[in-house]
Amino acid sequence: MRRIKEYCGLFGAYNTSDASLLTFLGLYSLQHRGEESCGIISFDGTTFNAHLGMGLVSEVFDAEQIAKLKGHQAIGHVRYSTTGSSALRNAQPLFVDSNKLPLALAHNGNLINSKELRESLEGKGAIFQTTSDSELILHLIMRSKEKSTEGKIIEALKKIKGAFSLVLMTKDEVMGIRDPMGFRPLCIGKKDESLFVASESCALDLIGAQRIREVEPGEIVIINKNGLRSVKYTEPKKKYAFCAFEHVYFSRPDSMVFGETVHLVREKLGRQLAFEHPAKADIVIGVPDSGTSAALGFARESGLPFEVGIIRNHYIGRTFIQPQQEKREFGVKLKFNILKEVVKGKRIVVVDDSIVRGTTSRIRVRSFRDMGAKEVHLRISCPPHRFGCFYGIDFPDPKKLIANEKTTKEIEAYLGVDSLGYLSLEGMLKCFKHPASSYCNACWSGDYPVKIKCADKFVLERVKK
Ligand code: SF4
Repeated sequence: MRRIKEYCGLFGAYNTSDASLLTFLGLYSLQHRGEESCGIISFDGTTFNAHLGMGLVSEVFDAEQIAKLKGHQAIGHVRYSTTGSSALRNAQPLFVDSNKLPLALAHNGNLINSKELRESLEGKGAIFQTTSDSELILHLIMRSKEKSTEGKIIEALKKIKGAFSLVLMTKDEVMGIRDPMGFRPLCIGKKDESLFVASESCALDLIGAQRIREVEPGEIVIINKNGLRSVKYTEPKKKYAFCAFEHVYFSRPDSMVFGETVHLVREKLGRQLAFEHPAKADIVIGVPDSGTSAALGFARESGLPFEVGIIRNHYIGRTFIQPQQEKREFGVKLKFNILKEVVKGKRIVVVDDSIVRGTTSRIRVRSFRDMGAKEVHLRISCPPHRFGCFYGIDFPDPKKLIANEKTTKEIEAYLGVDSLGYLSLEGMLKCFKHPASSYCNACWSGDYPVKIKCADKFVLERVKK
């Protein structure tokens, strides 16, 4: 029961006899980026081999399946549906079985001009198999009149708008591509003579590959028998739009994203939070997992002891059936348990990464009180969320975001905390490595770096299956 869902995770392997196994492991590390479906496509010199399914990587793949995905190159995808429903037909990688250019594609992000593109392509006779925006990219590539594969891809990239990190595979190449604003992360790794692309560096760590660098915004990295080649398909931008929420919440703390280790960024956010909103308390507790690093920073900055006060259960299956009564409350208890002996009789600071609707936070605060906490001071390591995301993150309807309904004082009263403090936008942005103008912060500020025309996640969906 995650409050805000991630979008997708990508992985690609080139020139290794274990391409599918390493892709499986890469996806395993990227599971937090999408839990609904996953897939791997490999190429063995003659045939493209595919296996895709609904569920977690460990549920969809076993040793037998992986052994069938033969070849020295493979790409993989974990998905949460940010556009299109979560049906199997929308699982990725997508594949075009064409004599001229057989092509597999995996996409992370969200196109903001998908409706216009789909209408235009359908007007020209295109037939779509999925309701996801990613398929549009394949259609645009296949319809291009350019002669070279590179030319076709560049022509397609110039027609799409929004957030996209892509991993593509042809018969002899694996490619990593980032949109011109760089919304979503994508990095390159190397191990001996093999090259890899991955959404986050934690996937490279697991397979023992060295992270070389990020795919740059507006860059195509082409990996083939000649090694690695870079093609810039747009003019360099003055402004980028790295998703700030990757640092606050989405990415794994052990990943290096946008040039920084996520754990260390979160620790800085916690320090800044302590500076902006100090609290008179006995201990500091982080809400696992993404609140932990910020809590550590808060504790260090304020000189208060950091304590483990909440234990998270990581083993909740997707199909867990909850009792109907008090469903929500039970769901929170199922996932988090509070250490009574740690909080009893104490004034506690609880550091969390965000408040969305407020329901979960409210239940948790009540549990702290039930366990005997004397005072509960809640600190949030980013500003209040007031706007939706159209670049690949699934926020609830902005009307349901608590910060749109209530002032901070009212939220404080609703949650039943002794005090509440959000990190300021300026404070958050100054904890990052790059200048503030390099980050998207639209879900807090409403300042969208790429103009939005259509906000409907299911805009391409006509027949729900
Ligand atoms: S709106 Fe928020 S979640 Fe979406 S890309 Fe921008 S910073 Fe990230």
